[in-house]
Amino acid sequence: MSKGIHVAIVGGGIGGLAAAVALRHRGISVAVYEQSGVLREVGAGIFVYPNSLRQLERMGLGDALARVGAKVGAGSEYYRMDGTVVGKILTTDSSGWSGMYGMHRADILKALADALPPSSIHTGHRCVDFSQDEHGARLVFENGHVANADVVIAADGINSVLQKHVVEPSAPEYAGFRAYRGLISADKLPEWRREAHQVWMGDGKHFMVFPVRGGELVNYVGFVPTTSETAESWSAIGDRDELAASFTGWDPRVTGLLDKVETCFWWGLYDRKPLGQWVNGRLALLGDAAHPMLPHLGQGANQAIEDGTALAVLLQTCAEGRSVEDALRRYEALRRPRTSMVQAEARKNGMRYDSKYADLGQRDREIANSATLRKSLYDHDIEKEALESLSLDGVSA
Ligand code: FAD
Repeated sequence: MSKGIHVAIVGGGIGGLAAAVALRHRGISVAVYEQSGVLREVGAGIFVYPNSLRQLERMGLGDALARVGAKVGAGSEYYRMDGTVVGKILTTDSSGWSGMYGMHRADILKALADALPPSSIHTGHRCVDFSQDEHGARLVFENGHVANADVVIAADGINSVLQKHVVEPSAPEYAGFRAYRGLISADKLPEWRREAHQVWMGDGKHFMVFPVRGGELVNYVGFVPTTSETAESWSAIGDRDELAASFTGWDPRVTGLLDKVETCFWWGLYDRKPLGQWVNGRLALLGDAAHPMLPHLGQGANQAIEDGTALAVLLQTCAEGRSVEDALRRYEALRRPRTSMVQAEARKNGMRYDSKYADLGQRDREIANSATLRKSLYDHDIEKEALESLSLDGVSA
């Protein structure tokens, strides 16, 4: 461990834990403070794409993720709602590497937590206040605990309490959609393509399926428009009959899967315009606290992992005496343009998936050409980019 700085991370979700692993990997001392009594994630799937998997593998998580991930590749396709094939979904980066897993959210969270010393994770710590001066930063928790650090990372999600210490808070905007999500045992779907990410696109709705947990479970998500705002809560139990009714008459593969659904969760979709600032002195926003995005490119957590990787590279320079304020400013300059681009592209992709086109042929052509966008996401190497930004300025990392 370097004699350098100590970093406090508020929020023990995928973003906060990935940042902690990235920082420790570079010899930086970290403590994570999570409000819940236990680290937890809901029973739903998430994609880990090449852009973040290459970073997690470098941090030493390759084997742990391979044990619980489900390889995604063969048979990945986009369809119209009736099952007509529109195009293939790219599942490799430009080098041909199929670095893509469907994962149970709890599995990736556990893999990240297992890579950290238990003593560095403080559950039951709800952060309620932040202050800073030229000597350091101070966090106050609801349980009365106070923590001091050189840097604070706010990884406290879309409703971040620390955001107001950086920028005038911008309210999350309801996107008018509800995502119904759940998992089905793969045994109940013997005819299902084991490695496939499949997306059906209909009028104002879409449905997707991909494998998780080594292919033992099939994850499904149905995106349905609503007139009333849906709470952004994983614990909300969705109505499986309403879900099935929303996709009546679609490809029999979709309706057949929905016949097997017993329970599901729902989740309101929220977006936010890019924030004007991510950093104030010793405090930096990360993940959904900085850039919540619609899930139509599956990049929210992947971008959070990129954020943590960049921070680790840049903060490592503080061990050689560089100021933390300077490292954090550099972090914002590196990350904000990319995540703003991904936020905008996720919104556009949602329009494609929901067939918001006068000419569906035009939509189908864009979908068929989406490999170009996916390549630009998958090929990105944030560690390399952060190191290059330092060497351009003659800073050694
Ligand atoms: P969160 O996961 O929200 O974690 C924040 C943590 O901070 C929580 O544990 C919370 O308890 C804690 N916290 C909050 N306030 C405090 C406080 N005051 N003190 C202490 N702790 C606090 N992303 C992908 O990359 N791939 C996908 O396939 C994908 N699919 C998605 C599908 C849907 C339907 C949705 C809605 C999202 C999807 N996402 C996906 C996005 C992804 O889920 C989020 O971007 C990601 O989980 C954000 O992680 P985070 O750590 O920044 O925030």
